[in-house]
Amino acid sequence: MVHFVGAGPGAPDLITQRGAALLQTADCIIYAGSLVNPALLALAQPGCRIFNSAEMTLEQVLAVMTEMEAAGKTTVRLHTGDPCLYGAIREQMDALDEAGISYDDTPGVSSFCGAAAALNAEYTLPMVSQTVIITRMEGRTPVPEREKLASLAAHGATMVIFLSIGLIRKVQQALLQGGAYTPDTPAAVVYKATWQEQKILRCTVGTLAESTLQAGITKTALITVGDFLGTKYERSKLYDPAFTTGYRKGENP
Ligand code: SAH
Repeated sequence: MVHFVGAGPGAPDLITQRGAALLQTADCIIYAGSLVNPALLALAQPGCRIFNSAEMTLEQVLAVMTEMEAAGKTTVRLHTGDPCLYGAIREQMDALDEAGISYDDTPGVSSFCGAAAALNAEYTLPMVSQTVIITRMEGRTPVPEREKLASLAAHGATMVIFLSIGLIRKVQQALLQGGAYTPDTPAAVVYKATWQEQKILRCTVGTLAESTLQAGITKTALITVGDFLGTKYERSKLYDPAFTTGYRKGENP
C-alpha cells in the first residue's frame, strides 16, 4: 500500500494527525526534498528506508514503491503542503493503478493557507474578492495559453502565485498588463511560510519586483496579490445583526 501524505507548509506540527500516524508506521518514506521539514522524518520508525525524491525520477520513485509492495511493505509518499497542488501525484497514481498497487491520499495544509496565516489575512473579503486564483508564471514549465498570468490578472481577484519567485520581474509585468491591478494594488511575498526562517514582505504590485530582489528572496515563496491586503471591505452578512439565517433570527427581519 502507498499512502500519499500532505506534509503541510513547513512547521512540523502542521501535519495532520493521520499523516503523522502514517509516517510513524511506514516501512519506507519518499519525501519531496527541501520543501519538507526534515523534523518530520524523525517520526520514522527505526529501520524505515528514507528517499529524497528531489534526486529521483518518476521511474525511480515507482521502482521503490513497487519493490516495497512486493515485500508487503508500506510506503509513505510525503509531499509538501497538500499533494493536490503542483504535487505531480496524478502520474504516480495512474502508474500505481496500472501496476495494481493500492493507494490513498491524506490531505495537508497547503502553503497558500500557511501564507494567509502568516499575513493574518482573509483571501475572500466581502465586496473585495470572493475568488482566489491559484496559479504560476510560465517558465520552463509551460501553462495553457488561456491561463497566461496577464489574462488571469484581468479579473482583479485575489491571486496566489506559486513557483514563480525567480521570475518576479515577469510576474510584475504580467500583473500590470492584466489591467485590473494598478501599481498601488497591495501585494505580499511570503518566504517559507510557517518555517522558523519565515519572512514576510509587504509591498505593492508596482514595487513587487524591486522589493523581492532587494530582500534577496529567490525560492520557496508565494506571491499574493490583491485588495484583500488593503484596508477596505464590507462586513459579512452571516454575522450581521440584521440578517436572518437558518440558525438565527435577524433584529430587523
Ligand atoms: N503542494 C504544495 C506546493 C508545491 S509546489 C502546497 O500545497 O503548498 C512548490 C512551491 O510551493 C514553491 O516553489 C513555493 O512557491 C510554494 N511553497 C511551498 N511551501 C512553501 C512555504 N512554506 N512558504 C512559501 N511558499 C511555499
